[in-house]
Amino acid sequence: MMQTTAVVIGAGHAGLAMSRRLTERSIDHVVLERGEVANSWRTQRWPSLRLLTPNWQTRLPGQRYAGEDPDGYMAVADVVTTITRYAGHIGAPVRTATTVHAVRAAPRGFEIRAADEVLCARTVVLATGAANLAATPRVADDVPAPVSSLTPLAYRDPSQLPDGGVLVVGASATGVQLAGEIHRSGHPVTLAVGEHVRLPRTYRGRDIFWWLEATGLLAERYDEIDDLTRARHLPSPQLTGTHEAAMTDLNSLTAQGVRIVGRLGRIIDGLAQFSGSLPNTCALADLKMNRFLNRADEWATTAGLDGELPPPHRFAPTYVDPRTPLELDLTSGEITTVLWATGFRPDHTWLDIPVRDRTGRIRHDGGVVTDAPGLYVLGLPVLRTRASTYIHGAVTDSQAVASHLHTHLGSRRQ
Ligand SMILES: Cc1cc2nc3c(=O)[nH]c(=O)nc-3n(C[C@H](O)[C@H](O)[C@H](O)COP(=O)(O)OP(=O)(O)OC[C@H]3O[C@@H](n4cnc5c(N)ncnc54)[C@H](O)[C@@H]3O)c2cc1C
Repeated sequence: MMQTTAVVIGAGHAGLAMSRRLTERSIDHVVLERGEVANSWRTQRWPSLRLLTPNWQTRLPGQRYAGEDPDGYMAVADVVTTITRYAGHIGAPVRTATTVHAVRAAPRGFEIRAADEVLCARTVVLATGAANLAATPRVADDVPAPVSSLTPLAYRDPSQLPDGGVLVVGASATGVQLAGEIHRSGHPVTLAVGEHVRLPRTYRGRDIFWWLEATGLLAERYDEIDDLTRARHLPSPQLTGTHEAAMTDLNSLTAQGVRIVGRLGRIIDGLAQFSGSLPNTCALADLKMNRFLNRADEWATTAGLDGELPPPHRFAPTYVDPRTPLELDLTSGEITTVLWATGFRPDHTWLDIPVRDRTGRIRHDGGVVTDAPGLYVLGLPVLRTRASTYIHGAVTDSQAVASHLHTHLGSRRQ
């Protein structure tokens, strides 16, 4: 049986960031990965995906973007290259093709069952990702048989779809991006829109992520956020990383010819029923966007940047067609595919320690699993700050978690 001080599970950017922090502290460890380094980006993302965060923001412990296009948005293949190079650069002790099947409490830490061996470690860091499974609503079970259902984890490009119309359910980053791509390929697209986060791609000449960082919003700590559960479940913003830095909000999709409808409530006898509150939902998203832009303007004034930046302005409210249908007959042949862009969720079902809540999510305090001392989790949305949702959040998250882990090891030695 192999013994080590720490086992990190998952060689995505979060697991690798943790590996680097452990190496800095001379803590011997191994990183177990079921596939290859950056496996999620290789196998679970569609090829046309580009990061919605700008290149300059793709930072990891000890590494900053050094390419020629800091304001561009990385294609998924470049994300794979970046993370793989990082693993080599930091000399991470990754064991690929090693799926962890179970983690259990053991007298001196944890027992980890991986592939066909058992490892023992005093500490375990779960970095297996936030988006292993597609989160589809119950209504997905009611899609009538001839219509095919698909999730973004299985989506590759529009050529895999049968001829005909596509109902995309969900209008966060994934939904708006795929609705646009599928519509441009010639499939008529209907987009069902629930609660969403509208943000412009750029504002006053700067990328919106520049503003989110500059105003301090991304640095807001988990223990200072009023409704943390809500913050952790917030949909991703309606942003896409395009060469033109184009806006990909509902107005731009409507202008392209995508039909916008309300939130999908239920499907009864093949009839899809949409909420009539679409105008309110959109008005709320507009209001929240403007609230953030007000905050950005106030920050710019306080920082003395008004002379340097273009003047403040506001975007047109979201247009909602008063004739928006409330029903769609899925048996008519008009829709041949439903794409569930309704979010993702982590998969920790293989964890044999009672630290998950009734929804299956790990109970933790900023990445520290307090019910199982020595167990940690990384890479989840708003883990320690709002930036935790994004790649660069691992810089400070891994630092804090490694520091706690180091102290835990010290306290156990005494
Ligand atoms: C569609 C999409 C778009 C995104 N766009 C952006 C963006 O533009 N900018 C940004 O900053 N962030 C973006 N993110 C978020 C960010 O990429 C995630 O936070 C990130 O993927 C999580 O990184 P991670 O290292 O925690 O997990 P992952 O990258 O998912 O890595 C987890 C690793 O664990 C491995 N693993 C899982 N289970 C096991 C097991 N049982 N045994 C062994 N290994 C296992 C997996 O194979 C994988 O390699 C996006 C996420 C998604 C889903």
